[in-house]
Amino acid sequence: MNKIKNYINGKFLPPVNDEWIDNYCPANGQVYGHIPNSSKEDVEKAYSAAKSAFPLWSQTTLEARSRILIKISELLEANLQRFAEAESKDNGKPIGLAKTVDIPRAASNFRFFGNAITQFASESHESVGHDAINYTLRQPIGVVGCISPWNLPLYLFTWKIAPAIAAGNCVVAKPSEITPMTAYLLGKICTEAGLPTGVLNIVHGLGSTTGQAIIEHPDIKAISFTGGTETGAHIAKIAAPMFKKLSLELGGKNPNIIFADCDYDDMLKTTVRSSFANQGQICLCGSRIFVEATIYKKFKTDFVEKVKQLKIGHPSKEGTNIGALVSKSHLEKVIRYIDIAKEENGTIICGGNKVIVPGYEGGYYLEPTVIEVVTDECRVNQEEIFGPVVTIMPFNTENDVLQMANKVKYGLSATLWTNNLKRTMRMSNQLQSGIIWVNTWMLRDLRTPFGGVKESGVGREGGFEALRFFTEAKNVCIKY
Ligand code: NDP
Repeated sequence: MNKIKNYINGKFLPPVNDEWIDNYCPANGQVYGHIPNSSKEDVEKAYSAAKSAFPLWSQTTLEARSRILIKISELLEANLQRFAEAESKDNGKPIGLAKTVDIPRAASNFRFFGNAITQFASESHESVGHDAINYTLRQPIGVVGCISPWNLPLYLFTWKIAPAIAAGNCVVAKPSEITPMTAYLLGKICTEAGLPTGVLNIVHGLGSTTGQAIIEHPDIKAISFTGGTETGAHIAKIAAPMFKKLSLELGGKNPNIIFADCDYDDMLKTTVRSSFANQGQICLCGSRIFVEATIYKKFKTDFVEKVKQLKIGHPSKEGTNIGALVSKSHLEKVIRYIDIAKEENGTIICGGNKVIVPGYEGGYYLEPTVIEVVTDECRVNQEEIFGPVVTIMPFNTENDVLQMANKVKYGLSATLWTNNLKRTMRMSNQLQSGIIWVNTWMLRDLRTPFGGVKESGVGREGGFEALRFFTEAKNVCIKY
């Protein structure tokens, strides 16, 4: 049995209360390890370590910080196989995905922010006629909290930690209790890369206790959170009266809008991916597919044919396209939505059933599911399911589809398939989302602002936006 420990002040420590939580392997439904059920005391220890490390780390040269971040990135790359296996086992995602997306991207996060911090600059404003100059300092905040979800465990964990420490902060971080493994392994890598003790502290445990202790801590001055909209609202309620800086990356219900004039084959191939990659458990997946009526019938046939070809299997098997969902309770939630779809007169045109993978009968497998809906206002078209389930329906005009695309409480991303330039410009301007992809999906450039509007979040991550979030601007005005 694996026993994961907290990483505090460069040491691996058991929780103060010696309480542990079972860690399940989604591929077979069995407990394969234990993680600390950390309490307030553990968070306090982590905070103290971070606080002690801050004076020196915040004064460490940018070059030295950069070198350490890049070293972490290199060590992640050198340990790709080990990390990918751990991620796949912990999360249920196909090993191929962990090897080509999750772990390489975690390494890129450190490399990117290791480089970005050497290019980060602040502004100066000359007050002409007043004989004065203003310059802006961008100072690290101090101790910051980073809380991440289970769907892209190391990828999203490092997306926060890397800019936080690059900017000179010290961190108390909590990965999802459902997928703690790679965050645990990251501690070892950070030590090996020479990250000073206390700069990064990783505390494992439940959101309602460990996470809560981080957000409630009066001296943790900024919280960067990725997770569900409800949790985000809860965090905002606690953090706002304490005037903490907040970055909230929350849920989505993203439209995938397909016009008849698109490059059809490219669209079809990408739409299968944007629907079902990582078992549909990516906040950017296009779970509402709207297809121009003139090609709707053809799309429906071709899409279902392609989806049926996806191989469902054990995540460690090369060639598996659809692995296991992350947990039993999540599988049950997704299945409930399939039932709701039936009650609402939706038609399941593909999938919809649990899958038994021989030898792994306890695993959380579900067929990729396509539901034809009669209205965009049904619950499966409005609420986030976050599993291998998409809805499809036809539309007639650009205006109709725009209304439907925007008629949800979320606004994270949207995908548009068309070769009409003017339409691309019109739609991109009017779609209510933080991210728009045209004729592609999940093509990421780490310099770009990342985040959502409406109930998909507040603030932006990525590039200098992240470095701005993790620093305080201080203006200095000098009269000469
Ligand atoms: P949750 O909101 O349940 O959890 C996210 C993290 O917050 C976990 O580490 C969780 O701990 C922790 N948490 C829960 N309650 C509290 C609390 N009271 N105080 C502090 N921390 C708490 O989300 P999921 O893990 O279920 O992730 C799925 C969600 O994440 C989806 O809605 C998805 O859309 C969203 N997401 C958004 C992204 C974006 O960029 N906008 C990207 C990826 C996912 P624990 O689970 O250990 O109890």
